[in-house]
Amino acid sequence: MSRGSVYALQLPAPRAETWAWQMHATCRAYDVNDFYETSHESRKSLAAKRICASCPVLTHCRDYAVAANEPHGIWGGMTPHERARYRWLHYRPKRT
Ligand code: SF4
Repeated sequence: MSRGSVYALQLPAPRAETWAWQMHATCRAYDVNDFYETSHESRKSLAAKRICASCPVLTHCRDYAVAANEPHGIWGGMTPHERARYRWLHYRPKRT
């Protein structure tokens, strides 16, 4: 799904305090490559998800990644596919 999809969400205004949650991210102590895998590294995703599980800003991170439609990596303990499914379940237009 591209950033311009029908399910595009509103990102917060780009102000410094909007990103303050990242200062508390558990992943700051890890190599960023631990959160991005190639097709042959599914164990990496599981390890990254374990790190996210204890992160105090998991909700902020997940909400950002879903709203931004982040196409790669583990964010908020979710893979890109899991985020796409989450977006579809929670933000698709409702039928009336
Ligand atoms: S939830 Fe995971 S990816 Fe997001 S800030 Fe926390 S450790 Fe980093």
